[in-house]
Amino acid sequence: MADLIDELTAIVGANGVLVGADVSARNIHVWRQEPVIAKAIVRPSTTEEVAAVLKLCNARGQTVVPHGGLTGLVQGCNGTAADVVLSLERLNKIEAVDPVGRTMTVQAGVPLQILQQEAEKHGLMFPMDLGARGSCQIGGNVSTNAGGNRVIRFGMTRENVLGLEAVLADGTVITSLNTMIKNNAGYDLKHLFIGSEGTLGVVTRVVIRLREMALGQQTAFAAFDNFGQVAGFLRFIDRAMGGGLSSFEVMWRDYYELVTTAPADNVRPVPVEHSHFVICEALGTGHTNDAERFEEAMAEALERELIVDAAVAKSENERRAMWRIRDSVDQFFRFGPAFLYDVSLAIKDMENYVREVKRSLDAAYPTHHCFTLGHIGDGNIHFAIAVGSAEPVHQHRVNDCVYRPLHGIGGSISAEHGIGTEKVAYLPLSRSPAEITLMQQLKTVLDPKGILNPGKIFSLP
Ligand SMILES: Cc1cc2nc3c(=O)[nH]c(=O)nc-3n(C[C@H](O)[C@H](O)[C@H](O)COP(=O)(O)OP(=O)(O)OC[C@H]3O[C@@H](n4cnc5c(N)ncnc54)[C@H](O)[C@@H]3O)c2cc1C
Repeated sequence: MADLIDELTAIVGANGVLVGADVSARNIHVWRQEPVIAKAIVRPSTTEEVAAVLKLCNARGQTVVPHGGLTGLVQGCNGTAADVVLSLERLNKIEAVDPVGRTMTVQAGVPLQILQQEAEKHGLMFPMDLGARGSCQIGGNVSTNAGGNRVIRFGMTRENVLGLEAVLADGTVITSLNTMIKNNAGYDLKHLFIGSEGTLGVVTRVVIRLREMALGQQTAFAAFDNFGQVAGFLRFIDRAMGGGLSSFEVMWRDYYELVTTAPADNVRPVPVEHSHFVICEALGTGHTNDAERFEEAMAEALERELIVDAAVAKSENERRAMWRIRDSVDQFFRFGPAFLYDVSLAIKDMENYVREVKRSLDAAYPTHHCFTLGHIGDGNIHFAIAVGSAEPVHQHRVNDCVYRPLHGIGGSISAEHGIGTEKVAYLPLSRSPAEITLMQQLKTVLDPKGILNPGKIFSLP
């Protein structure tokens, strides 16, 4: 049998295949100094090359791990020396922008920030946004169904993708580049690939839905003395902005204190002596009264004691400084390794749930550090928990503190990051046996040899 590396090279060219030290020179994640482990990294530059690579690998029973921007937070890109990594980095072209239909067709390896900037050139915006925007790729966003900072107004990736192209394990290309908002002609196949974490196909092209660019935005940083006020303020400001509320990001005091204390150099817009803090943002119409309306609403919230303090951003610099506080998540690691969580649950259950998690952490690890924040309008809480060790035994113990209380209240172990390999053992807490069986059946139909991203989401019986 011909050598696999030679055959891969024949498909993508010598420049398209990395082996040996060129593989281990790459880190497996933007945050981690750990090398990629793989037999080879193959870097196709067209859909046809992706199809030929997968056809070859499938014929040989060769496992393949797709790599996007390597910002995922659930070890979904991990592999072994027996795997081939398929990196989408060379499928990086913006193919078409239709400013009238407000769509853009892009290759999977285009970084999110690049396509956001391209939309802006046409007076449009791609509303999905997350802290990893400079590194994550649209193909990775699709494969994880990423959420981010504006889900409350525009939904998750799923709601912002109109069509896509994916290559199945056997090399079959499914081109479903729909550009219409309405299309009920049979099953909407794109949803098979959105959020399937590279287990059902490799996404090669995406049609994204664009919106009119906001003509300004109003941003405030507010403080609260209890969670009840936060929930009340969410409804108040959403109504006051007439549906224009685009972000509502909550930080518990533990997080606010962390990211506004040296060595972090963020300046506090409001004092730290409160229990919760919120960045809220509303997209504007460009009218001069936008700011007035927003400030009036904030003043009314103060008067009605829905908030206890607030600062309204008066310039783009002030706005950016507020968002920098929310985006300073690299501070999670100040006290050593931290386990990251992304759970979802009903807003009404959040206060008790967070209390319960912290109570069990206090009991298990009296000197732990726990930082809490979230996209609360979407029912999503993030924890970063440092217990002084990253050993699996501690991770399982902390997982139990975070995941077990979700079960009884219908919460999910993943709001937006996915399952990867990190949460496989906990999937049954959020999905029924019938749901998991159907997922496994779909996997078996689309990838009968199980070559695509093995061991991610679930293991096959
Ligand atoms: C600072 C920071 C902030 C973040 N904020 C958020 C946030 O607010 N919301 C959120 O949802 N996530 C967030 N994330 C997580 C991460 O950015 C998202 O999951 C993102 O969508 C991953 O994209 P990626 O290109 O980096 O994918 P990767 O990490 O490379 O891959 C993720 C998964 O998708 C698969 N995959 C990648 N590309 C393809 C493809 N073309 N076809 C098939 N499978 C593929 C991989 O095999 C893997 O299973 C954040 C991460 C960081 C570091």
